[in-house]
Amino acid sequence: MARSPFHRILLFAWIVVLLMDGVHASDGDADPIYKACVEQCEKTGCVGEKCFQHCKFSSDGKPEGGPWYLQEPLYLQWKQWDCRSDCRYHCMLTREEEREKLGGKPVKYHGKWLFRRAYGFQEPVSVALSALNLAIQFHGWVSFFILIYYKLPLTPSKKNYYEYTGLWNIYGILSMNSWFWSAVFHSRDVELTEKLHFSSAVALLGFSLILAILRAFSVRNEASRVMVSTPVIAFVTTHILYLNCYNLDYGLNIKVCVTMGVAQLLIWAVWAGVTHHPSWSKLWVAVVGGGLAMLLEIYDFPPYHRFVDAHALWHATTIPLTYLWWSFAKDDAEFRTSSLHKKAK
Ligand SMILES: [Zn+2]
Repeated sequence: MARSPFHRILLFAWIVVLLMDGVHASDGDADPIYKACVEQCEKTGCVGEKCFQHCKFSSDGKPEGGPWYLQEPLYLQWKQWDCRSDCRYHCMLTREEEREKLGGKPVKYHGKWLFRRAYGFQEPVSVALSALNLAIQFHGWVSFFILIYYKLPLTPSKKNYYEYTGLWNIYGILSMNSWFWSAVFHSRDVELTEKLHFSSAVALLGFSLILAILRAFSVRNEASRVMVSTPVIAFVTTHILYLNCYNLDYGLNIKVCVTMGVAQLLIWAVWAGVTHHPSWSKLWVAVVGGGLAMLLEIYDFPPYHRFVDAHALWHATTIPLTYLWWSFAKDDAEFRTSSLHKKAK
């Protein structure tokens, strides 16, 4: 029996949802030896022979002397985070080496695998790839901007014809913001950088869902746009507040992100098929690529040689996809502009 593209997409979405529930990595946080190690380290500032400068707190819990600027609350907070991060890292390292000797498989700590640091960067491969993604986003956005404002015809009142320019601009800015915080977070994972990374990624996903809905349903008037985007914005805001102020729940966050991701991939794919958009092939490659890339994010494996994990690979796949995505945005702008320009003549 031949399946229509729509059926295939539905089947794919169904498999993704099934896979989502199958992911349960074992958890190193519950390991009593690791827990005791971190507690001990935060008190003494040492793991075995290794001691950390930032963990030097006097007996009353206040940090020891130094010039006034080293006593500033923000600096002290940072010092505390840095101490905790170093303690966790070295306790994980010791514990994983012990476990490896006993033939145990790697486990996750604080929802993440253990990586070997390089030049002070916690996950050097992911940092480099995030920076590259940021650069490609910037390039895509700038070339879109140049196309719209300098190459395509403008209306007599010097405005552009393409109705979705503002949305793509916001999308570009949110993406660059998200990749920036991704690079920061993978450099050093402390509570603050983690929250900033999660929040900016959720905001980007939420906005790209809005973009998908508005473009696919050709929502052009202001009032309808507000009506469509308000529930999404409300949901995303609630989720971000929940993560930041109540509970940084990794499992829940992945589910929310995958649901929003799958929803927009479906919308784009169906729309491209139904409307026979001139660049439908680019859209489909981006959608299938995005879907496969999402599988990497769902089915993560422990880092190879403690350097490259599924998440890093996912950051690698988003580079060509981003390039393709902006190329689609530019095609769409050209397509809409030419048909509107013809009509206006
Ligand atoms: Zn990342």
